[in-house]
Parts: sequence; structure tokens; C-alpha cells
Amino acid sequence: MIMNLDAAAAVQRRLDDLLDHLPAGVVVHGADGRIVAANCLACELLGQSAEQLKGTESSAAAWDFVHPNYQAMAPEDYPVNVVLRTGEKLAHLIVGVLATGTEPVRWLICNAYPEHDPDGRLNQVVVCFTDCTALKRAKQRLQKSEERLRLVLRGSTDAPWDYEVDTGEVYYSDRWWNMLGYEPGALPGDAGLWLRLTHPDDKARVGDFMRQLLDGQHENYSIELRLRHRDGHHVPVLSRGFVLRGAHGKALRISGTNTDLTERKRTERRIYELAYFDHLTGLPNRRFLIEELDKALARSHRSGRFGALLFLDLDNFKLLNDTMGHDLGDMLLRQVAGRLRRALRHSDALARLGGDEFVIVLEDLGCSAETAVQETNHVIAKLQDALGQPYDLAGRAFSSTPSIGVVLFDGTSAGIETLLKQADLAMYRAKADGRNTARFFDAGMQASADRQAALESGLRRGLEMHQFVLFCQPQFSRDGRLVGAEVLVRWDRGDGVLLGPDTFIGLAETSGLIVPLGQYVLDEACQALARWRGQRTLGSLKLAVNVSVHQMRGADFPDRVADVLRRTGAPADRLCLELTESVFAENVAETVERMHALRGLGVQFSLDDFGTGYSSLAYLRRFPLTALKIDRSFVHDVHLDPDAAPIVEAIIALARKLRLEIVAEGVEHEAQRSFLVDGGCGTLQGYLLGRPVPIAEFERIYGGY
Ligand code: C2E
Ligand code: CA
Ligand code: CA
Repeated sequence: MIMNLDAAAAVQRRLDDLLDHLPAGVVVHGADGRIVAANCLACELLGQSAEQLKGTESSAAAWDFVHPNYQAMAPEDYPVNVVLRTGEKLAHLIVGVLATGTEPVRWLICNAYPEHDPDGRLNQVVVCFTDCTALKRAKQRLQKSEERLRLVLRGSTDAPWDYEVDTGEVYYSDRWWNMLGYEPGALPGDAGLWLRLTHPDDKARVGDFMRQLLDGQHENYSIELRLRHRDGHHVPVLSRGFVLRGAHGKALRISGTNTDLTERKRTERRIYELAYFDHLTGLPNRRFLIEELDKALARSHRSGRFGALLFLDLDNFKLLNDTMGHDLGDMLLRQVAGRLRRALRHSDALARLGGDEFVIVLEDLGCSAETAVQETNHVIAKLQDALGQPYDLAGRAFSSTPSIGVVLFDGTSAGIETLLKQADLAMYRAKADGRNTARFFDAGMQASADRQAALESGLRRGLEMHQFVLFCQPQFSRDGRLVGAEVLVRWDRGDGVLLGPDTFIGLAETSGLIVPLGQYVLDEACQALARWRGQRTLGSLKLAVNVSVHQMRGADFPDRVADVLRRTGAPADRLCLELTESVFAENVAETVERMHALRGLGVQFSLDDFGTGYSSLAYLRRFPLTALKIDRSFVHDVHLDPDAAPIVEAIIALARKLRLEIVAEGVEHEAQRSFLVDGGCGTLQGYLLGRPVPIAEFERIYGGY
């Protein structure tokens, strides 16, 4: 018996010993479910000592060191309880072991086996644990990367592919085939396929890159290439992916996706075109030109050869636009662009700056200025010939000529902006010299431009310093009564010289300063009218104020006038605004509306310099005028030139019929006066009757009348 006990103990020890050396954790539960034994590895895996384990039963409270998903199980589902109940083995439950917190430090596969005594009664349950943490983690990682891949690919049309380096097998996804217009597998899908489809110009670069990839020079990569589509065109593709490496960095697999860049390339192209090309003519725009000019200057600097910058502007384009409409204007610009392109060499740069302005850059014009001028003249003759042919604008024949300004450049030239300004100046000179002509820039042009610039800044300063003074010239009725005056501005720069308007009104108009200047004159004139109010003679006078087309263009002009009248308290029906015919050449509807608004206030309008402009008689009906002013030139000749007299008579008759007042200006001689009075002219103005004088003097002289 003792022997037997000893023998049993020895067997038990051997068994324990064996258990401790098993590569699995083993926990033995008795028939009551309580733990009777646990080997070392089980203790280690479960993170418990044998003492802690022994005697514990299979319950949530006792197994609080395992993952909550175990705690949440119904007690009859605990593995030991299942085996005890069913007598069957239970395989493969995965249990997480917690140290602290809720994230398991270790994952165990747990198998539970029933053990029966010789009578067939179930007396033990043996539970084996094996560590599957690495496996579980790998699986989690795989899941995560699959999720990421799904996210990346969701909604995208990227085409995955995969290259197994050892076997040389390539997996081409269905999308990969579709991107190139093929049904999957339509061509032999070997490793060389994609390289065979690669654009010849990309092959060497892409091949090199693949070799570097296999050599371990890159891990992640991204490369653009073009692959031939089934229909023959090449699809721009962005190929991106990564290399999977094994021991010693050997490449095992390259995985990636191809993205179709067709749309992106198209958008990029569109953005480029919008940025660098003019949409109307398809020609490069200013920005493109500046970049090209920059390069041309650098080339000229290196080669020592001359180049030329040409500024080309169509004569009377504005008139076409205004009279025949913008559609025909656009049509003309497109035809001009086409003719210019055809007349030039392929290497000559041509751009449209906007409006009817074109710019041309010629290069390689030889090493001397003389040759360059000759060569340029040759090109200019070709251009003038090409543009001088009649145009067909929607069935209407039209002719147009260009004015061209030229500046030569070589390596020593000033910067781009200066060259552009110089070519522009030369072009304006060409216009001034009668249009349909070309002018080369010279220093004289620069000097006169500088003078203009100085005058302009002087004008600006003059306005700020109130250097402008008003003169008044009296107007008389045919029987010699004073009936009104015209306000004429002078510029007193404080140097003793009084500048007449002919020296600065033009510049004020081109610089836009005429608007504040005109406003100033109007303001002063209205103050005079307000002062004269109630005075015997002055109070009955009409005051004429010259208004520039630039002022009339402002939509707020009627409001401005109304404002001045209100502010000064001037009687509106004493104010007469003098317009020239140029006012009627544009925005007819708006101009008529503005004039009516002012007429509504009581303001009157007279048409200045009548007979010298377009003289379309239709104006006289459309615009709410009250008077016509016969131009000085007709009055001047009336007693000298037999042709001038009938014109003046006709104008007077016309005005009468249209019930317009008639004013003759520039009356210098008695003969002119009597002719006009006899002819029926109502109002007279001129040196014979009274010169323009400063307004204060005017008040002194005529106030006592
Ligand atoms: P305009 O409106 O035709 O003005 C009449 C011009 O003829 C004035 O020249 C006047 O001094 C001049 N004149 C008057 N009587 C005679 C004469 O008997 N013989 C000759 N030879 N000339 C005479 P002015 O003052 O030099 O003005 C020139 C032009 O400047 C004006 O021509 C007008 O177009 C413009 N101007 C003058 N003041 C203003 C202004 O305040 N605003 C605007 N926009 N233009 C103005
Ligand atoms: Ca006038
Ligand atoms: Ca006039």
C-alpha cells in the first residue's frame, strides 16, 4: 500500500515534471470545476501563480484577469463547464489575458478535453493554452490594412496590380485592364506586359526606376508614365506603390495602383491655356508674351543679334465695335489673328494684349541695327499687306489697317516693361502720323512722353492747389443785349503764364483728370450763378459750361450736377451744358437717359462745334438739345469763302425748323456779325463783342449793365 502510494506519488511527480516541460500551458480542473493543477507555462501565460490558480473555479469572478468578452459569457458556456456538462471536448476558444487596463497583453488559444476514470466517469477537465498573440496581432494588422485599402479604393478608379518578384507573376486587376480599354486577360498578362505597353519615350526611365526599386533604392514610389490604350492613344498614368522586402532587404513583392491622369492632365492643360492664352483668338496672352520676351532678350544677349518688338493696333477698331457691334468686332479680331499668324515665321512670337492690340517679337535680325531695321521693315510690309486685304464679316465687306510701333532690342536693352512702353509710344506716334503706318521708337518720343508725364503730374498738383481759374466770355443777343456767358478754364501755375485749355484739356482727358477738373469748373460756375441770383443783369444770364465726354460717361453725372445745384443754390434753368458730338458716338441710350434726367431739373444743353464732327443729323432728333453752336471755323470764313456762307445759312435754317436756339462763336469782325444777324442767328459770341475775362472782372464789367 505504502509502496503503491510511493509509486503513485512518483508517477504524479513524473507527470508534473512532464507537464512543466510541455510547450503548452496546461490547467487541470477537477470534477467540481475547481483547478487542481497548473503547469509553469500556464501560470506564465495567464500571469498567475500556481497558488493563485489552485482551487479557483471556472467563474467570471475568479477569472477577472481575462478579457471582458470572457466575463460576458454565460457561466454554462465557460469552456470547463461546457466540457463538464457535455463530456465532449471543446476546441479553439480564444481568450485574451489582461495585465492592466482593458487591452489584452496576450492572446491564448484554449482547448479543453474531458478525462474519464476507468469507470467512464468524468473526473477531470484538462485545458491547454497556446500563445497566439503574434498571429492575432498579424491578423489585426491585416484587417486594418485591408480596411485602409478598401477606403482608399472606395469611389476611386485606381487600378491595383501586384508583382511577385521570385516567381515573376503579375496580378493585373480588372480595373487595370479596363483603364487601357481591355477586357481582363485580353493580352498575355506576364510581367513584361506593362513595359511593352509603356510609351517608347518613357521606357528607359521607367525601366531604370524599376531596377532601382528592386535594388532597394526606394521603398515607396510614385512615377508618371504613359501606357498604350487599346485604341492606340496613350493614357497618362500615375503609378504608386511600395516594395515588400524579406531577409537582407531582398524585394519579395511590389504592389501598387495605377491612377488615370487623363482628366487631371486635361484640367492642367485648361488652366495653362486660361493662364497663358487669349480665349477669343487662341493667341498667347500678355503673360505668355512676357515670358517669351524674357527668353528672347536672353538669347539676343548671348548671340549678339538684334530682335524687334512690334506693337500693332488696328485703326478705327473702336468705331467698328460701336457701330457694327461686338460680334463683328470679335470676328475681325479672329481674322486678324489668323492673318498675322500666317504672315509670320513659325519662330516669331505673336500675342494679343487685349482689345485690338497685338504684339510680335522678331528674333535673329542680324548683328547691326541697319540690318535689323531692314529686316523688320520687310516683315512690316508683309503684315500691312496681309491685314490690308478686305475682310468678310458675316457677309459684310470691311477694310482695316494697322498702326505699328517698333522698338529694336539687343543684349544691352532695357527691361521688358521699358521695351513694351517704348513700342507703345512708337505705335501712338504711328497713329498720330496718320495711321496705317509704322514708326520706330526714338529718343525724341521718350522726351515728349516724359514731358507729357510731367505735365500730367503738374495737372494733378494744380487741381489740388486750386490753380485753375474761370474766365467768362459774354454772349449777346442779335440786338446787342447781354444774355449769357461761356465759362472757359485757364491754368495759373503761379509763374506768370496763364495756360489756355488747348494746352492741357487733351491731357486731362486721356489721363482721366478731366472728371475732377470738370467737376471743379461746374462747381465754381454754379457758385457764380448763385451769387448772381436776383441781380438785375447778371441774374438773368445763362451760363454755359463745357462738359467732356468723359464726364458724361459717368453714370452718376446727373446726380453730381443735381448735387452741385442743391449745394450752391444755383438756379438750374440758368445752367447750359455744352456737349460735343463725341458724346453721341457711344452708349446712345444711356446718354439720352442722362440728358433727360438733367433736362428734368431744368438744365439745358447746347451742341458745341456743330459741323465739325460726324454731324449725323439723327443726333439732333434723338438728343434733348436746346441750342446749336456754329463752329468758329464756319463763322471765320463766312464773309470770305463763298462756300461757308450757305453752310451757315443752312445750319441756321435747320436749327429754326428743329426749334433750337442758335449761337455763333468766334465773331471777330463786323462783317461776320452782320451776316449772322441778317441770317437770323439768335446769339453771338466772339472777340468783337467781348473777350474771355476772369469771372470777377466779368462781374465788375457787366454787373452794372
Ligand atoms: P470752345 O468750347 O469752342 O470754346 C470757345 C473757344 O473759342 C475759347 O477758347 C474762346 O476763348 C475762343 N474764342 C472766343 N471768341 C473767339 C474769337 O472771336 N476768335 C477766336 N479765334 N477764338 C475765340 P479757349 O478758352 O482757349 O478754349 C478752348 C477750348 O477748350 C474750348 O473750346 C473748349 O472746348 C475747351 N474748354 C475750355 N474750358 C473748358 C472746360 O471747363 N471744360 C472742358 N471740358 N473744356 C473746356
Ligand atoms: Ca464751348
Ligand atoms: Ca466751340
